[in-house]
Amino acid sequence: MTIFSDERPLALAVTIAVLWTAESLAPHFAAFSLDARARWVHGFRNAALGLTNGLLGIVFLGAMIAVSIRWAEAHDLGLTRWLMGPEWGKALVALLFFDAWMYWWHRINHTMPFLWRFHRVHHSDPRMDVSTSLRFHPGEIVLSTAARLIVVALLGMELWHLALYELIAAQIVAFHHSNVNLPRRVDNALRWLMVTPWMHWVHHSRLARETNSNYSSVLSIWDRIFGSYRFREDAEMIRFGLDGFPDEQTHQSLSGMLRTPIG
Ligand SMILES: [Zn+2]
Ligand SMILES: [Zn+2]
Repeated sequence: MTIFSDERPLALAVTIAVLWTAESLAPHFAAFSLDARARWVHGFRNAALGLTNGLLGIVFLGAMIAVSIRWAEAHDLGLTRWLMGPEWGKALVALLFFDAWMYWWHRINHTMPFLWRFHRVHHSDPRMDVSTSLRFHPGEIVLSTAARLIVVALLGMELWHLALYELIAAQIVAFHHSNVNLPRRVDNALRWLMVTPWMHWVHHSRLARETNSNYSSVLSIWDRIFGSYRFREDAEMIRFGLDGFPDEQTHQSLSGMLRTPIG
């Protein structure tokens, strides 16, 4: 699969453009849209990190994952290959288990100090909008890929299973970071099944008990099953970001974000 035959980058670009426009027209947190220049600077910095990670994936990490998947295939290894039933059923099992893995991987990132050094770049964002969904340190992406090499083999995932998961997950992750003024009843209804903005705002709170909650990526059920679901009605009162990482140059510039794991 080459970048030109892969629909994932284009789908995400369209989703981000739509959500960015919606945030301009009807923001939930109006304060983040008051200063247009600050909003664009913030967006470009986060997008620069996202682009770096995208290139890393295309040039290097995607090929490593493909090697692991082909190796498992050649040795007839992995959960889905041991199951009976139609291909779509196996794909569903693979996607479900992979989403559960994403929950645990995210949770481990909050509990292991070494992993948290990288993941805190995502949490040090004092604003929340669709661009925050791109704000991950390249080190976290490399570590996450290293762990995935084992997970995709254990699950017996096909390349298209992972491509489909990433396609779905990227749009939902962009959506639940967005600053769109979604009607409350829509958020309430969607939250039974998937992670919504309201649910993920709690995860970006500065209060440790809230930061360490709501780890799900796509389906919200994992937080409910594993006891980490947390909700608060007064979303307006949430202070986003991390204490100790406030400085505009030291922690919010592109070079500052790249240095955050060591500083
Ligand atoms: Zn997190
Ligand atoms: Zn987030």
